Amino acid sequence: MEKFEQLFNFINKQAEEYEKSQSTYLEGVLDTLSGIIDGEYVLPVKEATKEEMRKAIQLAILKGMRKSSQPNHQMTPDSLGLLIAYFVEQFFEEPLKQGITVLDPALGTGNLMFTIMNKLDGKIHATGVEVDELLIRLAGETAELIEQPIQLYHQDALQPMLVDPVDAVICDLPVGFYPNEEVALEYELCAKEGMSYTHHLLIEQSINYTKDGGILIFLIPSTLFKSEQAPDLHKYLKKHAWIQAVIQLPENMFKSKVHEKRIFIVQKKSDELRPPKEVLLAKVPNMSNKEAMLLFFEKIKIWKENNL
Ligand code: SAM
Repeated sequence: MEKFEQLFNFINKQAEEYEKSQSTYLEGVLDTLSGIIDGEYVLPVKEATKEEMRKAIQLAILKGMRKSSQPNHQMTPDSLGLLIAYFVEQFFEEPLKQGITVLDPALGTGNLMFTIMNKLDGKIHATGVEVDELLIRLAGETAELIEQPIQLYHQDALQPMLVDPVDAVICDLPVGFYPNEEVALEYELCAKEGMSYTHHLLIEQSINYTKDGGILIFLIPSTLFKSEQAPDLHKYLKKHAWIQAVIQLPENMFKSKVHEKRIFIVQKKSDELRPPKEVLLAKVPNMSNKEAMLLFFEKIKIWKENNL
């Protein structure tokens, strides 16, 4: 059995026992992770890598989420995390040598951020913000166990944050209406009528907390530019950012058409930089097709040579 499976089996067994005797499975995962950190439990595996540990915890959290899921709390799968890590590398080739600051304002379990941090180990100074207490606690314990330093804030990311402007934002956007209409009034993207969209406001807030010329990589619903509020979003983006890329993802990654997402990359405007000559429009092929993936990376390389 692989190491991550042994680790998962251990966490799973403890979480199941906790579920039977106390609360939910997910709370049981949290309790187990805290127990490992406090030395209450001894792991069955010696010298697990950061990735083995992340994968084991991810499996346990996924199991817990299936039991109590709602779509906005779904963790970002590894395949998307790895693709986003690839784009971070493309946009920050030189700066990564010194390290860059990255913010995820909707951190969830942290799986997206930790996939990227493990891939670009030691090069990311991370900050995560999450409104859900259980999820941010899971993220905190995971960070400690995989030894990835991250500054965490448990709050609504649409309220003012104690975060200095970052080089990059990565975010799998929560989609839906934002309930706090008073806070929404502070935003250019506040709906003129009715409720505002959390995902629109979070794009604006992310740009607020990015340095001029910084890069923002969002996972957006593929319907983002089809809603009745889309013209306002277009106008806002035109004023504050340059669209760098819109990447379609393979349909088989998603349960159904309504769940489909895209990778949307924008750059905050800067007086010292120029916009890209052309926006990168690409479609990720089926990721198990190696040849098609090579062609995809080749297309990005050519775009990069002409635009970045
Ligand atoms: N990337 C995350 C991961 O790998 O686990 C998944 C992010 S999930 C799609 C979106 C997250 O946004 C949810 O965890 C949700 O609780 C959080 N969220 C929703 N509204 C928020 C807000 N106003 N401020 C901060 N977090 C918020």
